Formats: sequence, structure tokens, C-alpha cells
Amino acid sequence: MSLPYEATLEYAQSEDQTDILYSFRERFLFPQHDGRDVSYFCGNSLGLQPKSVSYLMDKELRDWARYGVEGHFNAAYPWFSYHHFFADRLGKIVGAGKDEVVAMNSLTVNLHLLMLSFYRPEGKRYKILMEAGAFPSDQYAVETQVRMHGYDPEDAIIEITPQNGAHLIEDADIINAIKEVGESVALVMIGGVNYYTGQFFDLENITKAAHSVGAYAGFDLAHAVGNIPMHLHDWNVDFACWCSYKYLNSGPGAVGGAYVHERLGNDPKFFRLGGWWGNDEKTRFKMQKGFVPQKGAASWQMSNAPVFNMVAHNAALDVFDKAGIGPLREKSIKLTGYMEFLLKKITNLPFEIITPADTTKRGCQLSLLFAERGREVFDMLTKNGVIADWREPNVIRIAPVPLYNTFEDCYRFYEVLAGIV
Ligand SMILES: *Cc1c(COP(=O)(O)O)cnc(C)c1O
Repeated sequence: MSLPYEATLEYAQSEDQTDILYSFRERFLFPQHDGRDVSYFCGNSLGLQPKSVSYLMDKELRDWARYGVEGHFNAAYPWFSYHHFFADRLGKIVGAGKDEVVAMNSLTVNLHLLMLSFYRPEGKRYKILMEAGAFPSDQYAVETQVRMHGYDPEDAIIEITPQNGAHLIEDADIINAIKEVGESVALVMIGGVNYYTGQFFDLENITKAAHSVGAYAGFDLAHAVGNIPMHLHDWNVDFACWCSYKYLNSGPGAVGGAYVHERLGNDPKFFRLGGWWGNDEKTRFKMQKGFVPQKGAASWQMSNAPVFNMVAHNAALDVFDKAGIGPLREKSIKLTGYMEFLLKKITNLPFEIITPADTTKRGCQLSLLFAERGREVFDMLTKNGVIADWREPNVIRIAPVPLYNTFEDCYRFYEVLAGIV
């Protein structure tokens, strides 16, 4: 598909005028630079603050003051049930049923908890297959889980690398590797969207391949959630986890999320670590012996909900839900395409865009790989009020986020960058 993009400010502004999501920008607070909003392209690292958070946080504090312990049932959003308020909206974002998702803990913690259920090596089935260049926290989680079970990471972890000096890993290479390693694969664990390149993997067919050799498939969706619509349930994905401070705008260290397919989540015999909040709600307060998991992903919860952490999540998901993941994706494809179009207009490009050009294989992030002096360019961008993101050794990541970025933002970025290079 080729769109009649134009590299002019007038064109960018006219696109903004017809953008049905344009007004959502008004719901966010932007950092300031020289008395104006910065050009913020870092929503893939930390999303902006919805203006409603401050009021809702204050309201929660007042409910605590007013009700004390009775806030568990009397607060506007009763704390006893707090985690339930997210299931519907999260389900829509990742394509899962209400019982298949839960807001809890944080990303790496959830990855560990889910691996305790989904990585149960036995006999010759003990290998974990993952993509090379995964986010360090994921690498550490996998490495230490493998060690916990007494295996050597060098032997038990198989990393799929790009072929022949390419930057991207073909889905087919992952699928072929799964089939090749076959019965020794216990778990396939991939970052749904790679944080460095922005590549979105074929979760459905990777899951199929994992199942065909009798392994589980789980995904870290940190960079996919709120970025690309997914259908985790229909794709038959076993488990997934994510953080909500990136595209979901829920604030630094915000509560994370987890998904478990109902095939497993509704099976009380499927192993999970217990805590009172994961127990059947009807007997939670009976203080009896014997953990009885409730239905679904919520049974992986251990502690009661960290309400103050979740207030921003609640506010942010409201904004997200009003915009809708479908319309957001539609705008995202167009907006990111525009940014890509503009970047390619720059003469003597000192960088290469390593993110896939195929829009079905990426979300809204573009990764610019510099041959040299990338850091200098990045520092100049910052001086000009453009917030992008620097990743060692040589990449500037930019994310035109459809919820609050505009075509004009992209145009301004292009102007500044063209001026620098
Ligand atoms: C952002 C990110 C993390 C961060 O983990 P936390 O536990 O939230 O600190 C982990 N993995 C990936 C792939 C990420 O993108």
C-alpha cells in the first residue's frame, strides 16, 4: 500500500485535522522544553501521564481516609475487587477472555511466576528456545530458571540468531529451530515485539510449532501490548506477561499484567504457586488449609491488590479503551508510515532503519541504526526538545504513539533531524 504522503507541514497539519483520535492528545501531560510541549517519541519506554490520574489518586486517598478498612467494600472502586476492574479492558487489548488476564505484580516477577508453571523440565525435555538479543531482564530470568532446575544455561538455552549478518530473525527460522530441537524443547519464550528492532513475531505460528513438539509457548509482550492488537486466546498462546508503563501509560513501575489460556488457567491441577488472593474467593477468608485456585489467570495472584499503584493503570486504561485498540492501530500504521516516509527523504542517510518495512511485522517503533555518531545525533535531538530513546551500541528508537503523537510531531522530528545530519 502506498499512501500519497507529502513532506510538508501543511500536509501533516491537514492529516491531524481529519484524525478522529487527535483530541486524545489533550488528555495527557507533556514535559516542557523552552515553554512548549516536547516532541515526545518515547512512549515505548515510558508513556505519558493521563491528566485524570492526579484527581483519581486524590480520590483514592480520600476514600482511604474516609473509610479505613471498610474501603475494601465501600470505596468507589472497592479494594477487595480491585483487580477485577482491569480484566475486561486488558482482555480487549490482548485478545483474551476476562478470566484469562490479570493485572498483578510487575513484568519480570510475572515472567518468573509463569515460568514456574510453564517450565517444568523433565528427562530429555528441558530446553528453552528464545530469540537472541532478548531484553536483558528476560535473559536473566531464563538463565536463572534454568540454573534453578540444575541445568547449564549454555546447554539448556537455545538462542535463535539472525542469518548472514541480517538484523532481523525470520519467523521461519524460529519455527524451523523448534522443529529441529523437537522433543527436547520444554518452552519457547519470545519477546512478542523485540525491544531493539521493533520486529513483531508471528505469535500464532510460533505457538503452533511449539505445540507440535509438545512444548509450551509464552511471550513477553512489553513492547506489543497497547501497540499491536493481538488474539492470544484464538492463537492458542499458553501464557504471556507485560508491563503497563510503556504503551499503556500507567506510570513508572506500574502494575504489570499476565495472561494464561483458559485450557490451563481453569485447570486446578495445573501447577501454580499459591497465595490467598489466588485462592477461590468464596473460601479466601475461611483461613482453611489447602490452596484452591480460583478460575483463570487471577489464580496466579498472591497478594492483595496494590491499589495506589493500580489507580494510574485504571485511569490510563480508561483513556485507552475510549480510543480503542482497533482505531489506534489504524492510525498507528499511517503515522509510522509517515515517519518512515519522511526519514527516507533525508539525503545521505547516516542511518539504516532496521525495523521491518512490512507493517504487519511492526508496531509504531522505528529503530535507526547509525554507522557512527549516533549518540551525537541523539544528544542534539534532546537539545532541540525531541525526546527519543538511545540504545547501546548504535540505535535511536523513536515511537510515534497514535494515542498522543501527531503527524505534525513527525514532521517536526524530520525537520530537526534533517537539520542535524
Ligand atoms: C521493559 C521491559 C522489561 C522491564 O521489566 P520490569 O520487570 O517491568 O522492570 C522486561 N522485558 C522486556 C522485554 C521489556 O521491554
